[in-house]
Amino acid sequence: MELETINKLYLELSQIATAKTRRELELETLLAQAENASDQSKQIARLISENKEFLTLTMLLDEHPEDYQGPCFCKLCQSYSGD
Ligand SMILES: [Zn+2]
Repeated sequence: MELETINKLYLELSQIATAKTRRELELETLLAQAENASDQSKQIARLISENKEFLTLTMLLDEHPEDYQGPCFCKLCQSYSGD
């Protein structure tokens, strides 16, 4: 989900949640989930921007280590994202 979409959803849910009802408790759960997803997106965006040099280095690799799951521009990954 796009960060913008999550933020919009979060705002809408914040406005809906007013009374302490069962519905609100459900909304609070949704809010918490949206908040976590939003934090995750921010963390990922930050990590990517902080690791631009690292990403440049991955471009020199033919393949990334088998257990590496982060952002990567190795030749193998670029072959997946190509046309
Ligand atoms: Zn890779």
